[in-house]
Order: sequence, then C-alpha cells, then structure tokens
Amino acid sequence: MIPNAADDARGFADLGLRPELLRALAGLGYEEPTPIQREAIPPLLAGRDLLGQAATGTGKTAAFALPLLERLAAAGAVGAGAIEAGAAPRALVLVPTRELAIQVSEAVHRYGRDLGARVLPIYGGQPIGRQLRALERGVDVVVATPGRALDHLGRGTLDLSRLAAVVLDEADEMLDMGFAEDIEAILGETPADRQTVLFSATMPPRIEGIARRHLRDPVRIRIGGREAAPGVAPRIRESAYLVARPYKPAALGRILDVEAPAAALVFCRTREEVDALTESLNGRGYRAEALHGGMSQEQRDRVMGRLRSGVADLLVATDVAARGLDVEHLSHVVNYNVPSAPEAYVHRIGRVGRAGREGVAITLAEPREHRMLKTIERATGRRIPVEKVPTVADLRARRLELTRAALEEILLEGDLEGYRVVVETLADEFDVMEVALAAVKLAHEAAGGVADEEEIPQVELRPERDGRERRGPAAGGRDGRGHRRRPRPRARA
Ligand code: AMP
Repeated sequence: MIPNAADDARGFADLGLRPELLRALAGLGYEEPTPIQREAIPPLLAGRDLLGQAATGTGKTAAFALPLLERLAAAGAVGAGAIEAGAAPRALVLVPTRELAIQVSEAVHRYGRDLGARVLPIYGGQPIGRQLRALERGVDVVVATPGRALDHLGRGTLDLSRLAAVVLDEADEMLDMGFAEDIEAILGETPADRQTVLFSATMPPRIEGIARRHLRDPVRIRIGGREAAPGVAPRIRESAYLVARPYKPAALGRILDVEAPAAALVFCRTREEVDALTESLNGRGYRAEALHGGMSQEQRDRVMGRLRSGVADLLVATDVAARGLDVEHLSHVVNYNVPSAPEAYVHRIGRVGRAGREGVAITLAEPREHRMLKTIERATGRRIPVEKVPTVADLRARRLELTRAALEEILLEGDLEGYRVVVETLADEFDVMEVALAAVKLAHEAAGGVADEEEIPQVELRPERDGRERRGPAAGGRDGRGHRRRPRPRARA
C-alpha cells in the first residue's frame, strides 16, 4: 500500500493544521513534529503569546510559521483573492541577519505554498526598489531585519497597522547586534491586540524585559532545559564536526573512511534528505541503504536483511523509520544534523554502546547549529568535543595505515613461497626495497586506497557573525524631526 502523503504527516494533523499545510509538510518529507513544534503549535493556534527558548536546529521556524499561516488562512487573510493589491501585511517576522531573513522567508513560502501565502524578505543590502514594488503589490508575511524594517516605516512604505502577529526570532542575537531600540520602535507601530512570539537561544534579563513589556501572559517553552535522566552513561565516544552545508556529504564520507564503522546508522531529518544522502554515499562507493516512513513493510524488511547480512554497512534513516529497529552489530550512530532536542540525541546514540561494547556517536553541525550542541551538552552533562574534519593528508595517512595493517597480517600468516619467484626475478634488475614499494602500491590501489579528494574548509566557531547588518548606537538613528535618516550603506558580507 502506498501511504497517502497527507496521512503521513499525521503528527501534524493531530496538532490541528489544515490539509494545505499538511500536504506541504509531507511534500518536504517531514514525518513528525519536533518537540518544540509539538509544544508551541497548539497554544499559538489558540492565539496565545509565546516565549520560547530554543536554538537553531530545533525546528523553531516551522513552530511559529505553521500556526501563523493556519491562523491567517482561518481568518481568510491569505490565499487567492483574500486581499486586494496593496493591502498591508498581516504578519511580521523580525530576524537578526539577512541570511536568516532569506532562510525564514523561504521556509514560510514553502509551508504556505498551497495556501497561496505571499512572503517578502526585506533586508539591507538589497535594492530597496524591488522591495517597494513587492510591498505595493501586497504581501501577507514580511520577514525583515530591524534596520531595514525601520527604514521602510520611516518612508511610509511599510504599514504595520493590520498585523495580526509579530515574531521576534533569535531575539538575543538582535539585541547583541544593537537592534534593541529599533525593535521597540517597530513594536510601537503595531496594533496592541497582535499576537507576539519571541524565540531566543538564551534568556538574559534584557530578553525577559522585552517579554514583560510586549508579551501578554505568554506560554513559556524551553527546549533542552531539563537535565537528562541520571543513569549509567553508556560506553559511547561522542564527537562533533562543524561543517558548512555544501561540504556535508564529502565530510561525512571522509569521517566514515577514517572511522571505518562495522555498521552505522545515519540519521537525517527528512525523507528527501535520506534519499539524497543515500544516493550521494553510494556514489562515493559506500554501501548505503535508505529507510524512511514512506517505504512499505516489504521494502523495509529487504533493507534490514541487507544490513544484517552485511551486504550494506550504512543505514540512512529518519527517526520515525528507525524507531524500534534493532541492529545487533551497530558500531556507529551518525547525526547528519544536530537533533531537534536533547532527548532525541540521547535516544539516538543509545543505539550503540550496548552489551559492554564501545560505541561511537558522531554529530555533524552546521555553524549556525553549534548552540544546539551546547544545549545538548548541558542537558546530558557530557562534553561533546568538536573535532577537525579529517584533511586529505589525514585520509591518505589512514589509508596507508590500513594497507600496512593488511600487509602485516599477510606477513604473519606466512605461506608466501609461491610468490618468491616473482621477487627473485625482479631482484636481478631492481633493489628489493623498490620491489616491495611497487608491491605496496599495487595492493594499496587495488584496495581503492587512492582517491582524488577535495579539501573541506575547516569552520571556526561563530563565523555567522560575518555578513550581518551591524547597528550600534552610532549607526542610523533619528534626525532632529524624529524621522529616520536616509538609509546609509551598511556593512555587507
Ligand atoms: P530551524 O531550527 O527552524 O532552523 O530548523 C532546522 C531544520 O529542521 C530545517 O532545515 C527544517 O527544514 C528542518 N525541520 C523543521 N521541522 C522539521 C520536522 N518536523 N521534521 C523534519 N525536519 C524538520
């Protein structure tokens, strides 16, 4: 039986989202809500304000975007013919950086596609004319950096009087960047009865202050706040690698080469990611099998059979598909992304290190997700050391080491007499050392030990500070008549 796509995202349907949104989520390969989505969506649908402590990687964007779209749709405020051209936006999302503005706007667009939701990112560094024309045509949701939003307010080109909801995303980052005054000014232009959502990775007193002033009796949600249940720490070697997204498949391949797992379970977020990564790993010469919720029982049984018999040594799966899976000889668990909550991390890595054997848990994190790693460390009470992705030189050394070990084994086994004639005849003409080197080369190449590998750039912590619109007390501000000064060119990436 082919499962119905909309049925598949059942966890989301239970939360009370309409079919258009469920179809979009199923299309994106989301199989179930993340913990923050499960906690945040119901109160947001009920119209409550919300104060959420959650880092990137928890699924917080969908946690606020889905109820936002649902409520706008319920009010007839999105979709064909819902608003006349030029109508003012109904929702505003404030984010600290241009990158996040684009990312959040793309996410809202994808979730709201079947509703016909119109989303516009506005940020500094982009020609303002394009933004003006889009605003004139009318949009439902604006995703903006505070500086540019205030510029538009000063010009009278952004009307916030019809907003039903405001989201402050990564609020602590916005404060760090000197946007506090701008945020206050923007909120001052919005209707008093709007819904307000604030997400922040940390909750310093200044954030609490904003929440006290602008949120009404908010629901509080915290991901990773609870300590994991005390218990015997499993024998697991944990480590993490910081890798920029485009290099993730290559980095994973490199790490797997160095780790040489007996059998590994690789966790992905979505079905699409499972399929894409499986294909990429097979293209790189690994024997990987995909497992996700969209597969029939028969397909799943076949995959598990191949893993158990050793025909495959990598299983790429979503959490849902991997639930209840028992693989005896699993040596490694790999998180291809940082898990959406510490509980998910603990649950995933608990699949190795059983029966007294040492297991290995590896987590790939994009630079933006490093805070989520910290959250997991706090919750588990264990440090997850961040390792350097093996370089081409490391890989070469490791492959040579494998060849050396294989040769040593053959030397110890003995029974080499049959080959003596080859060495003796060559020794007439060449040095014996040279002959040995040639034999090693032959063995090394035959084992697939030579590959042309691209370098993967090492990521330093907190590189996301680059490319931001930085505003301090000296940047922007008001002129003597209380209007904003003309926008000045801002620091660009
Ligand atoms: P965020 O924390 O909002 O930046 O989301 C992190 C990543 O998780 C994004 O790539 C989302 O597309 C993805 N994501 C969000 N919710 C889900 C879900 N329920 N299932 C799978 N992936 C998700």
